[in-house]
Amino acid sequence: MTSLLIRDAVLDGTATAILIEDGRIAALGEERPADRTIEAAGLYAFPSLRNAHTHAAMTLFRGYGDDLPLMEWLQTKIWPAEFLLTEEDVYHGTRLALLEMLKGGTTWLADMYWHRDGVARAVRDMGMKGHIASVFIDLGDREKAREQQARTIERLAERDRYGPRVKMAFGPHAIYTVSNESLEWIGRLAAKENLIVHIHLAETEHEVEECRKQHGTTPTRLLQRLGLVGPNLVAAHGIWLDEEERRMLADAGATVVTNPVSNLKLAVGGIFAYREARQAGLNVALGTDGAGSNNNLDMIEEMKIAALVQKHRSGDPTCLPAREALAMATEAPARAYGLGTGKIEVGEPADLMLVDFSEPATQPVHDPVSNLVYAANASNVHTTICDGVVLMHDRIVEGVDEQEVVRAATDAARGLFERVAAEGKA
Ligand SMILES: [Zn+2]
Repeated sequence: MTSLLIRDAVLDGTATAILIEDGRIAALGEERPADRTIEAAGLYAFPSLRNAHTHAAMTLFRGYGDDLPLMEWLQTKIWPAEFLLTEEDVYHGTRLALLEMLKGGTTWLADMYWHRDGVARAVRDMGMKGHIASVFIDLGDREKAREQQARTIERLAERDRYGPRVKMAFGPHAIYTVSNESLEWIGRLAAKENLIVHIHLAETEHEVEECRKQHGTTPTRLLQRLGLVGPNLVAAHGIWLDEEERRMLADAGATVVTNPVSNLKLAVGGIFAYREARQAGLNVALGTDGAGSNNNLDMIEEMKIAALVQKHRSGDPTCLPAREALAMATEAPARAYGLGTGKIEVGEPADLMLVDFSEPATQPVHDPVSNLVYAANASNVHTTICDGVVLMHDRIVEGVDEQEVVRAATDAARGLFERVAAEGKA
């Protein structure tokens, strides 16, 4: 048994001892000798953050092709480069993303990307946790659909290959890139295997209009018809949902992940109807989307912008208060993916962060949650713990050579764009 004692961290306003045994929180307010003790006087304990929608390896595209419309950005910049990505590129890009995330208090991610093995190895090697979805795209092509389904079955057979911290989810990209037949097939398989279906849904008005033209209904109703609307569904964006669709998703126990920074940067033309979604009882989680459209993976910044955008949209400063923003980044993803309560409680996985508010920008501390959401950023995170293992302490990353991770990713990006240039693609 391994144990860790955190002494005197401020938890819910009181200096408390947090005892961790075998990756779980064993006791609160009780000090016992442990293998390692962290003196945390003056530091604030929060559950670690969970990034519920990202494409981690897109760190390789950070700052590449900014300030373009969504389709032009995808068609002229991202897709030509993604076409040349190797598993090693994805491994190094994902490690860079995970390093950034863990330095900002994030310990879990829901990723959707190419080269699943590269992503999964990176999550395992960085000591983090994640639900990894391979992108499934068949573009309505029967041959492609067969090939993608066969690969999905292969991946399912080896879903435990990367250890207990790396889980599998299905990743049909969107209703406009995956055929109805394949969506239906994924829905049946996900229900049978009790796995999450992670999909982009109702991101743009164009998607809704095209869906009406092609299928005579809206994207969410189409998913409902195909049998995918249930507790296993996690839909990214959901900007263009109507009231009935929000209720349909809520009643089914599905989750929507809002990604406000990416939506703002790509100017997708709408703002997620948070207040209405909450009134419908919908579980709403938070994500950064990829670094290509954010351009960082700072979940603390994402919480703040989520709150600000919703206050602005509703014209009501009481909308999306700081505590709800924190819950979107902790409890909501936990609920969606069956990760426990997402809180610091006895019996829960020991996924937590210690935050240092001693900098001028985060003083004084009237309300720690308010300071975390509105005044802090990733650099205020002092210590990050995942499954009871210290990934970072006093801003020093443990068990991983930080410089090597950064160097390998920048080398991978350089190599990739040399190949892109050689192909004359961008
Ligand atoms: Zn996305």
